[in-house]
Amino acid sequence: MAQTAGTPVDDSPETIAAEIAACVKCELCAGRKTTVPGEGSLRPPVMFVGEGPGEEEDRTGRPFVGAAGRYLDKWIPAIGLSREECFIANVVKCRPPRNREPHPEEITACLPYLERQIRVVKPLTLCCLGRIAAHTLLQTTASLGGLRGKVHHWQGIPLVVTYHPSAVLRDSTLRKPVWDDLKLLKTLIPAQK
Ligand code: URA
Ligand code: SF4
Repeated sequence: MAQTAGTPVDDSPETIAAEIAACVKCELCAGRKTTVPGEGSLRPPVMFVGEGPGEEEDRTGRPFVGAAGRYLDKWIPAIGLSREECFIANVVKCRPPRNREPHPEEITACLPYLERQIRVVKPLTLCCLGRIAAHTLLQTTASLGGLRGKVHHWQGIPLVVTYHPSAVLRDSTLRKPVWDDLKLLKTLIPAQK
């Protein structure tokens, strides 16, 4: 089979995580306690993509384990899945200082890791949590309100955009659109045995 340029045939989440652990390709490496590569199953029904690690993620090395993660843990069963059978990653793998948004040059430096992860993990669907993930994977600057509620694609993989759990924790009016987005996502997942 043809090999994608830059992706070794024996690439794996572990290989990528090891490279991330040693990465100094952007300034975020200076402030991190630990890297947060992402985790989960291969060939998952859904791969969730967030923005970047927060404080608890930076401390534990695991994605979405803080307040936003505990909220995401409620969204996943709503589509009939468990956290373990999904893959959860972020656009940047090191915590931005004081949880600021990652800068464009940091996203550009880190994106090859996420792209490799998607290629090796081979999710059936992608779900972008928030604007940074959506803008990064869809290479657009459209508003989140304009991107959500429809099916996009990343290199042939169906992709749904919804609000970031942190945003929904701040604004309960976003719950209904998120629920609609999760229902849309569910329609893309083949029925489980
Ligand atoms: N917010 C994110 O975008 N990612 C995490 O892993 C945690 C909080
Ligand atoms: Fe490397 Fe990404 Fe961390 Fe920047 S955020 S140092 S590119 S792993």
